[in-house]
Amino acid sequence: MTALFGLALSGRQVLVVGAGKVASRRVRRFLAEGALVRVVAPEASDDVLRHAQHGDLEYVAREVVAGDLDDAWFVLAATDEPAVNSTVVGWADERRIFSTDASDGSRGSARQAASSQHGDLAIGVVSTETPDPARIRAVRDSIAAHIDAGGVDLRRQRPQQGRVILVGSGPGDPSLITVRGRQALSEADVVVTDRLGATELLVTVPYDVEVINVGKSPDNHPVPQHEINDLLVDRAKQGKVVVRLKGGDPFVFGRGGEEVHACLAAEIPVEVVPGVTSALSVPALAGIPVTQRQVAGTVVVTSGHAGADETAVAAMVAGATLVVLMGVSALPDIVEAGIEAGADPQTPVAIIERGSTPHERITRSVLVDAVRSAGETGVKPPAIIVIGQVANPGLLASEVAATPRS
Ligand code: SAH
Repeated sequence: MTALFGLALSGRQVLVVGAGKVASRRVRRFLAEGALVRVVAPEASDDVLRHAQHGDLEYVAREVVAGDLDDAWFVLAATDEPAVNSTVVGWADERRIFSTDASDGSRGSARQAASSQHGDLAIGVVSTETPDPARIRAVRDSIAAHIDAGGVDLRRQRPQQGRVILVGSGPGDPSLITVRGRQALSEADVVVTDRLGATELLVTVPYDVEVINVGKSPDNHPVPQHEINDLLVDRAKQGKVVVRLKGGDPFVFGRGGEEVHACLAAEIPVEVVPGVTSALSVPALAGIPVTQRQVAGTVVVTSGHAGADETAVAAMVAGATLVVLMGVSALPDIVEAGIEAGADPQTPVAIIERGSTPHERITRSVLVDAVRSAGETGVKPPAIIVIGQVANPGLLASEVAATPRS
């Protein structure tokens, strides 16, 4: 056996003979591929029956006959009787239809591959001699892990249409990006980044990837949003895959919506890869659950950018957990507005700076003392402010479990 091909089964008829455990598992894979699946077996697993009820596949409840193969592009013989499987594979060979025998991988004209999917890239591993499923799975796992860890250059080598991928990189710890986010970074010809999030990941991109930092311009002001939008569109129009790497989640105070809008207006394909938002993850890493039964059932995420927000203050007064982003300078306003509106002055407050990084620091106090205490420790952005009973230091028995890795 030498040359290998990836089969395009989408929209093509696949015959599965047998409907037990093995068959059911393979059926799921065929359905995921978009194949038109027909299952022939006197009895079927619940899984197959459920798929049949949903109209995902056609189930024929009887013994297989040779005629069942007539319109198939591919045949899988997966009954628990090796003799039946062997007969089916024989029928397939007579008709020149590729087939596999689940009870004996060395029979049949096709080998089952251990496969994995990484964006638009599929990996398939087969053994060419004695089939050894555990061995090919181990090889597949190791290649897949390498790709998912960003160890493989996935940039397109052929000209293509440019596009933009907005990637949320999480709060800062590089291991908190999603698998898809990591993959997107391996596909990037251009990365447009700012200061927040897992910028450490950029150390791993190849030298000839253009990395543009829009977090700070030479005069120390961030690049205006319209210029960032223009940059994304411009590079995509040059046929580049542009990753816009953002802290946390692109759509949580990330201006991701504006960037998507700019791409759509320029007819540039755009994908959004959600990220782990600092609003929820930074408290979690500090041992603060933003909701907790009997303590807080509502969490409000707000920005301190424009001072104290009325809705947010009302939520605080009502006992909801208030999470404030970009709130360091607005802290005095928020505290004053809260206390004035009737919030308990003893409400616990936690301020977490640079969460998930080795520089993480937590300052704890209560509402009435929060400004003084933040001044004493010299709290600086980026920081998350949590106001509410969930920020009570005694709430969880141990915070050790949630301490970030260095
Ligand atoms: N899209 C981002 C938020 C961008 S607004 C997200 O979903 O996380 C920027 C603010 O996020 C900062 O001012 C700070 O309040 C907060 N922030 C982001 N990363 C942080 C971190 N690692 N530690 C503390 N606060 C952080």
